[in-house]
Amino acid sequence: MEKSALQTDIQFLPGVGPKRAVLFRSELGVNTIGDFIRIYPFKYIDRSTITAIGAATPDMAYIQIKAKVVEISLFGASGSIEGDDVRFNTVKRMSVKVEDGTGYMEMVFFKGIKWMHSKLEPGEEYIFFGKPSIFNGRLNMVHPEVDKVQDGSQPGKMPGSSMTGVYPSTEKLRNGGITGKLMNKLMANALQTALPAIEETLPQRLLVEKGLVPIHFAIRNIHFPKDLTALEKARYRLKFEELFYLQLSLLKQKYVRSRNENGIRMPKIGDAFNKCYSSLPFRLTTAQKRVITEIRDDMKSGHQMNRLLQGDVGSGKTMVAVLSALIATGNGYQACIMAPTEVLAQQHFKNISKYLDGTGVRPALLTGSSRAAERREIHQGLEDGSIGIIVGTHALLEDNVIFRNLGLAIIDEQHRFGVEQRARLWRKSACGLAPHILVMTATPIPRTLAMTLYGDLDVSVIDELPPGRKPIQTIAATEGRRTAMFNFLKEQIKLGRQVFIVYPLIFESEKLDYKNLEKGYEQVVTAFPFPPYKTAIVHGQQSNEEKKFNMDAFAAGRANILVATSVIEVGVDVPNASVMVIESAERFGLSQLHQLRGRVGRGSEKSYCILMTGKKLSKESRHRIELMCATENGFELAEEDMKMRGPGDLEGTQQSGLPVELNIASLARDGLILNDARQCAQAVLDEDPVLGKAENRLLAEEISRDKYKVRNYSQIS
Ligand code: ADP
Ligand code: MG
Repeated sequence: MEKSALQTDIQFLPGVGPKRAVLFRSELGVNTIGDFIRIYPFKYIDRSTITAIGAATPDMAYIQIKAKVVEISLFGASGSIEGDDVRFNTVKRMSVKVEDGTGYMEMVFFKGIKWMHSKLEPGEEYIFFGKPSIFNGRLNMVHPEVDKVQDGSQPGKMPGSSMTGVYPSTEKLRNGGITGKLMNKLMANALQTALPAIEETLPQRLLVEKGLVPIHFAIRNIHFPKDLTALEKARYRLKFEELFYLQLSLLKQKYVRSRNENGIRMPKIGDAFNKCYSSLPFRLTTAQKRVITEIRDDMKSGHQMNRLLQGDVGSGKTMVAVLSALIATGNGYQACIMAPTEVLAQQHFKNISKYLDGTGVRPALLTGSSRAAERREIHQGLEDGSIGIIVGTHALLEDNVIFRNLGLAIIDEQHRFGVEQRARLWRKSACGLAPHILVMTATPIPRTLAMTLYGDLDVSVIDELPPGRKPIQTIAATEGRRTAMFNFLKEQIKLGRQVFIVYPLIFESEKLDYKNLEKGYEQVVTAFPFPPYKTAIVHGQQSNEEKKFNMDAFAAGRANILVATSVIEVGVDVPNASVMVIESAERFGLSQLHQLRGRVGRGSEKSYCILMTGKKLSKESRHRIELMCATENGFELAEEDMKMRGPGDLEGTQQSGLPVELNIASLARDGLILNDARQCAQAVLDEDPVLGKAENRLLAEEISRDKYKVRNYSQIS
């Protein structure tokens, strides 16, 4: 069979050849002409517009200048090179002074000088295309594209299009001679050979229903827009297509799982649940009630629950976990609650035991530091079913931990558990049916991202804090105000409150971070001498006993100050702590800052978060600090974080990266299209859940492509 133009190796595209093909492969992941035409411009330049030098500013994007060459100067390693007999291999820099009647500008070249030198004639007029910048107080352009002015015609312009696409590029591509101009030329060649071979990828009825332009129109106009309207239509269609298939793929997985995987049916509520509920010292928030209902509906449905519970710090997730666990025990099953660290597991155990008082359900705690005798007893209790709810760390995953009938697994702070570890939990089910899974996270995730990362999970959100919380005042300060800050801490301590002081920890240089922490600790104990002040310190290099000893001292109020690294358990709950000082706050990401701040404001006193920063901050750091001072809403912060950094860098998703590579759509900006696309995908699946109908053949084929295979790290099995 003859190969379609789309499958042709990129090296055979006229103008590419084997050398550039290697670059395209390594830099852009392009193997075929079909791949190539799916590389879209990330912005466009209107090349019908000429900017006057007098009107150009360094903050402008790419512009065109039409100007006359006034003077060409060459420079070598040791300065200016004069004379006609130039040895170009000794030339390091060429400076071209140009003038257009409104001002002068310098064009600078470090590479390809010989060729450019032969092209430029003093006194002649050229079009220079590039990005203006400032050097030594003067406006210049580095490596502009240069075209001779020809009468009438605009250079670098594609027929019928006044806008030129700018394609993603890398230094290697540029060094390999793949300029923006060449990209445009190659793309024109590619479209000519391959466009006719492209088949429509969306069903006709969807195109009609959503008013989307056909694929040929979209591809042509995304590369060489006829005008702005055509470009907008092309972009919309391509974004929709991308998000539609992504959601179709996720929703189909979800459907398949909910159909195939029977779950343990838990129809009862049970006495223990009712007892616990009626003896709560507070009323559940509306959001907590709603979420518990959602969980309860899952657990009695006969399908296996796979639910993500998102709730900001302090929103009361523990309560939801306890009540869910009691539904399991009320139906004769066991539940486990896993925390990522020893300290958090202990804290959970303490709180949960309190809630379980009088319910008759026996809780237990299993961690790495549980003693052998205790461990044996717990193993026994889990095996014979006398332990109803077990709280613990990774120790729960060990092979010798055997449950009589595990019915619900709750995982706190999900992103610290790897897929492999979750799979082990999964295999602990005894009755042949997978346990229900509830994953809890306090890292707010923007909705569009959640829909993609967890598109195959059901998501519950606690979007409300318990009443009576006092707002936390957030203040940014630099080193100059340290004494004032310390004095403020002393006032707070005099009032009987406690203080956290947190130092950043960056994993690449633990030793250095430790030094930072030690220095900080010394500074603190000097400013807060014993007596009367007591300072505890917790860090990653301590033994578990040491950590526990120091944490306990702080939690019990024996220490006024806790100095710690950021890894130290953001989950600790000390209601009497009213101040969180974060050192080198610019080194933390938004969501981490927000997590840390959530450690205070849990009691009845007014609380403070003090962000200590260096004097000189990058634009981004400054923005982060300002946002922190402006809002306490975790979801708002997460949205902003995503807009600032792009979803790939969002904390918590960093290690795994995004599960898919989006080509044109943006989770930060295209939320509306995403919603629409998801609804359309859902509607298709409602009619044809397995995409088996003839009319959906195209859809089934399309989602089987690698691009839409979502790496499903949120799934348990
Ligand atoms: P999260 O785990 O979501 O950060 P927690 O479950 O630790 O939050 O709850 C934070 C604090 O709020 C706890 O001290 C808890 O007892 C309290 N709390 C939980 N729900 C309520 C409620 N509905 N009303 C008042 N206080 C609540
Ligand atoms: Mg919690």
